[in-house]
Amino acid sequence: MILNLSDVLSEQHKTIEKDIPIEMEVFQSELGEFRILDKEPLAIRVEHVKGRELLITGKAKITVEIPCDRCLEPVETELVLDFTKDVDLSVPDGEQSEDLDETNYIDGYTLDAEQLIRNEVLIGWPTKILCSEDCKGICNVCGQNLNQGTCDCEDTSLDPRMSVIRDVFKNFKEV
Ligand SMILES: [Zn+2]
Ligand SMILES: [Zn+2]
Repeated sequence: MILNLSDVLSEQHKTIEKDIPIEMEVFQSELGEFRILDKEPLAIRVEHVKGRELLITGKAKITVEIPCDRCLEPVETELVLDFTKDVDLSVPDGEQSEDLDETNYIDGYTLDAEQLIRNEVLIGWPTKILCSEDCKGICNVCGQNLNQGTCDCEDTSLDPRMSVIRDVFKNFKEV
């Protein structure tokens, strides 16, 4: 949804508060495509501080399906967005602080709520997703999900300590 800022910018200290429904059904980024299972509207507040300066605060909740890092089973992950931003529209593009995406959601007098949410989801993206703390992962030979059953593959990632024990057994046999 596009929010028109011309009204709020017309007068100092003017504020808009709105609940904006989130439109996206899928979250797309360079990390991949993720199904959005549930979402709460973005509660946004835009305050005209002075000049062309805005104070933007927002809260939203999105539940995304992200594959487990070990076994790739989808994990329902709730992302809570809660942000505050100072935006000075009088600073020309390219001269904004290091925050390069700072104003990619504001164009002239309009604010693109979907783009803003996309930025915030990326910022809050979890670094690690596990279906459970003790997820056993998948067999790297046959792909069997080891949480659901075992397989007969030989463990190719030989633990060096194990090979010592094997050598000991071999020596016994040879005696
Ligand atoms: Zn898992
Ligand atoms: Zn296997």
